Amino acid sequence: MSTPDELDLAALRAFLSERDVACPSCGYNLRGLQSPACPECNQALRLQVGLVEPRLGHFIAGLVGLAMGFGFCFIVGLWGLFEAPRATMLIPLAAGVLVLGPSLVVWVRGRGKFRRASDAARTTMVIAAYVLSAIFVSWFLSQAK
Ligand SMILES: [Zn+2]
Repeated sequence: MSTPDELDLAALRAFLSERDVACPSCGYNLRGLQSPACPECNQALRLQVGLVEPRLGHFIAGLVGLAMGFGFCFIVGLWGLFEAPRATMLIPLAAGVLVLGPSLVVWVRGRGKFRRASDAARTTMVIAAYVLSAIFVSWFLSQAK
């Protein structure tokens, strides 16, 4: 009986026995490789399953939407505090950072569930991410005048 490690190594050897595959680290041709490490750069190698089409468009679009809002509130808020400190600016700054920052974390950590959602649900979540950012940016701008 072979262990999973032995089966993985056998699959890696079989895969590379007849293919020209570049090492993902250094580009060395791994054809005919016998050990699970690149002979050129000594990085450990494994055979793994990958997606043909990762479908990251919605995920990245929402990430950009939230990151723009968070970045705007954080950077402009800090600048505004030093340039023209006013208590009225603290609320949108804190709210933007405290809502959009955790939203970014939830967005990134929930990417597996996000990928399994329908196209319509993903589109709705992306729109919600931009609306959430727009709410805090516009609230912040209304206070910064
Ligand atoms: Zn290498």
